[in-house]
Amino acid sequence: MSDESAPAPFEVKRWQTYVPCLHYNWQPNKPFVVTAVVGARAEVWDPTGGQRMGGHRWVALRNLHATNKTGQGKERRTGWYLHCEPPADPVRQELCGSCFTWKDREQFGVLAHGFGHSTCVPCKAEIEKRYGR
Ligand SMILES: [Zn+2]
Repeated sequence: MSDESAPAPFEVKRWQTYVPCLHYNWQPNKPFVVTAVVGARAEVWDPTGGQRMGGHRWVALRNLHATNKTGQGKERRTGWYLHCEPPADPVRQELCGSCFTWKDREQFGVLAHGFGHSTCVPCKAEIEKRYGR
């Protein structure tokens, strides 16, 4: 990442995951994973973004933040903030499609084919508790 001259408070990187700064039940903004960074935009993948395998879309880097707090310590009301750094080893690690955290493959209760469709052990337990299965 050497072609960007503008100073950035933090770096948006491929395979980082982000969650919305504000959580509303009705809010359509779901977590996503960054699949590419091109210029001032990031291509992101949202497993619930339409189509069967989720959808890709572009978001401006200025909407991605290191934390959900502003420089003044106020809660951010727009955009997304960093949830999980890229995996140290994308081959050995897998993305949980529920909590959007990269974890070692051994930590998954369901390992599905296809990116972001696996479920880690804590999320699986949570889902089973909630839906009684
Ligand atoms: Zn999980």
